[in-house]
Amino acid sequence: MTRCPCTSGKEYAACCKPLHEGRLAKDALELMRSRFSAYALDLADYIIATTHPASPHYSEDKFNWKRSVSRFSKNCSFQKLEVLEFKEKGSLATVTFTAHILEGNQDATFTEKSLFEKMGGKWFYRSGQLREGHAPNLATEGQLKILPLAYYGDAVLKKKGEPVLKITEEIRKLADEMIDTMDACDGVGLAAPQVHHSVRMFVIRTLSNTEENSEMGEAKVLINPKIRQIGSETWEAEEGCLSIPGFRSIVKRAKEIEVEYTNLDGKVIKERASGWLARVILHENDHIDGVLFIDRLNLEEQKKLTPDLEKLKRRIHDHKTL
Ligand SMILES: [Zn+2]
Ligand SMILES: [Zn+2]
Repeated sequence: MTRCPCTSGKEYAACCKPLHEGRLAKDALELMRSRFSAYALDLADYIIATTHPASPHYSEDKFNWKRSVSRFSKNCSFQKLEVLEFKEKGSLATVTFTAHILEGNQDATFTEKSLFEKMGGKWFYRSGQLREGHAPNLATEGQLKILPLAYYGDAVLKKKGEPVLKITEEIRKLADEMIDTMDACDGVGLAAPQVHHSVRMFVIRTLSNTEENSEMGEAKVLINPKIRQIGSETWEAEEGCLSIPGFRSIVKRAKEIEVEYTNLDGKVIKERASGWLARVILHENDHIDGVLFIDRLNLEEQKKLTPDLEKLKRRIHDHKTL
């Protein structure tokens, strides 16, 4: 009898094997387990087939993708899978787990809150929030509050958002769910149109001015924001967007701005921001005007991206209508 590498204690043939052979996972938890055992057994094709077409890990270059998955499988030994939490709501689910693995002789244990989405009757792995080692604090109390994302090609991303007229219970709930969605996707900002709501609000995680990957701060909700002042000094840095997964480009933005917005208590706030924080605010503010960061590139750069953007659009659409 061969024990399943997902460490369920069951026999492989009665656990993950049928999934590796084509049976669809009944839920995201089952998919997560079968992906763990697929990594352990070096079944790169299974990993690729169950990765969401909008995942940041997705690659059109299947040959090299397969090779890198396989390299990870070969270099690691998969000791134990510990599931900390599983939440499901409609077509979205999260599984928080600790993967106890060794890379060579080194402990490479990590905790991940993975996000899964169901499309065309099939569950896919989309992305994850990662922490090194055993990090049970990634699991959170309460119901899943994640919203489905809009992706490049969705009309809502090109629309100018409507002003928020009143801070209703609905707006509060939307803000709360947007923060959870931003966190689940490991983003630093998320605008309402990115979760299919064409209104003028966005959420950000405040961060230090100097580094992109600095310690994450408090979540902030900006309603009906207006950029009141825009500094003349500009700077360039690489940006990405949760709605255009896998794409990054250098974008020129103002170094300093002043933004006025209403917070969830209905208070009007005026704030100066600079550096990364200003960049995040400007990027999100563009979203509520129907502008994406790729629209800020020069024509030549846009032209270069077009074929890949068309591929992204096609593969997301194809999966939705499986
Ligand atoms: Zn298994
Ligand atoms: Zn964006």
